[in-house]
Amino acid sequence: MAAEHVDVLIVGAGLSGIGAACHLQRENPGTGFAILEAREAIGGTWDLFRYPGVRSDSDMYTLGYDFRPWTGERSIAEGGDILDYIRETAREHDVERHVRFGHRVVAAEWSSEQARWTVTATGPDGAPVELTCSWLSVCSGYYRYDEGFRPVFPGEEHYRGRLVHPQHWPADLDVTGQRVVVIGSGATAVTLVPSLAGAAEHVSMLQRTPSYVMALPGRDPLATALRRRLPEGAAAAAVRWKNVLLSTASYQFARRRPEAMRRFLAGQARKQLPAGYDVDTHFGPPYDPWDQRLCLSPDGDLFAAVRAGRAAVVTDRIARFTERGITLESGAELPADVVVTATGLQLLPLGGMTLAVDGEPVDLAQRVSYKGFMVSGVPNLSMTLGYTNASWTLKADLIARSVCRLLRHMAARGHDVCTPVAPAEGGSDPFLPLTSGYVQRSVAALPKQGRRAPWRLYQNYLRDLVLMRLSRVEDAGLRFSRRATASDPAPAGVAA
Ligand SMILES: Cc1cc2nc3c(=O)[nH]c(=O)nc-3n(C[C@H](O)[C@H](O)[C@H](O)COP(=O)(O)OP(=O)(O)OC[C@H]3O[C@@H](n4cnc5c(N)ncnc54)[C@H](O)[C@@H]3O)c2cc1C
Repeated sequence: MAAEHVDVLIVGAGLSGIGAACHLQRENPGTGFAILEAREAIGGTWDLFRYPGVRSDSDMYTLGYDFRPWTGERSIAEGGDILDYIRETAREHDVERHVRFGHRVVAAEWSSEQARWTVTATGPDGAPVELTCSWLSVCSGYYRYDEGFRPVFPGEEHYRGRLVHPQHWPADLDVTGQRVVVIGSGATAVTLVPSLAGAAEHVSMLQRTPSYVMALPGRDPLATALRRRLPEGAAAAAVRWKNVLLSTASYQFARRRPEAMRRFLAGQARKQLPAGYDVDTHFGPPYDPWDQRLCLSPDGDLFAAVRAGRAAVVTDRIARFTERGITLESGAELPADVVVTATGLQLLPLGGMTLAVDGEPVDLAQRVSYKGFMVSGVPNLSMTLGYTNASWTLKADLIARSVCRLLRHMAARGHDVCTPVAPAEGGSDPFLPLTSGYVQRSVAALPKQGRRAPWRLYQNYLRDLVLMRLSRVEDAGLRFSRRATASDPAPAGVAA
């Protein structure tokens, strides 16, 4: 029996996959699509992570979709509210019924003769399920769901307390009256420490290298003021633009004047910490701002917990675990009833699926990324990876709209196939510009970026807006063609 065929197959029902489906419904009505989701729930990241205090670390006016303004009270929102927002969006746009849960996509194979992908998933009962599609939209996020990054520490087998990874937070864990050590200095540690500090006897944030932590109001004062004067949609749109411009300007300032940004962040931290606090050691990283993501502290909650003596930042290295805690290289002891390893994620391109084009396996690392969402030599495939220096959804919306625009263009011109053709000089730079551990461990597996548009990733919403929404669909980077039939010669010029 022939496999079921859909026009567009979306992999993943997280923020990006649900957004991609809504854009399709709105902009290309009549396009048939399905969403294959490995888990049993919508929401991806916002359903998976359940640790105390889990929240956004960018503002919701830009993390929300461009077609459905965020109307929540808080600009920095709790994970549960973000999950509700994604679910409600799916319901409102009638995309829920298109999600097939428990389907993990493992492989996709393109046939030029048929101009379609054959996609293989493992179904809910473990049996393989096959579908074909004309366009494959991979919205699988960027990291492994089954396990986070977790280094093995010397002596941890002797530790008698509880060891927990934030990606698998135990529902029964109660830290009331406990001494907790959180290992890590990234967004997760910065979120967890003040949240746990309420109930725990004491929380230590144990970091090898500090991060930049910036305090911002959890509620946007402009949003509160505008809501009283404007209709809700207009107020949210205005705040979204304010935040786009402000975050772009602050990122550009940080990259051009790193010393000034460093001084500003240190000064801001100093104001919120007790007199004489060693800001340089605990909040002064050895790298420039935005070499790694800046951490956000809503209403300065981390600084408040330190000020109140409920939490402490310890910058040191782990020598070994003991029965009752951790011995540090400085010789100090950190007693702990609970140790949380906020040591990060493991990057996973394409949700772990393999790709092949006409029987040839595709090694992403050998390819060049086109506008950050297609891959040289791989026809009719888009993948969604958001910004590293701004809200993910700003880019995800642009990508979803670009796919809709490409599909309309192809339908109008009678094209079946759209393939990015790598520039003569190939790709030169890594896909992601960050020096963070989780990026460095896996960036080699992602496509490269080139030196100029449309092969360059600018990590700049305003530039991308022009490149992806306003510039011509047909450019030197894309080759459009009709389906090759068995009697046609092999397609020429589709360089990988
Ligand atoms: C704790 C945490 C906080 C974050 N905070 C922010 C923030 O404040 N701002 C921001 O911009 N970004 C943030 N991010 C990044 C965040 O992942 C994105 O904002 C966004 O949620 C990504 O959505 P997504 O749908 O692309 O990916 P995910 O949320 O990862 O969803 C991917 C979905 O695809 C499914 N899937 C994966 N592989 C397969 C497969 N092979 N077959 C079928 N289904 C598959 C998964 O099960 C999942 O449901 C955060 C990330 C984490 C971990």
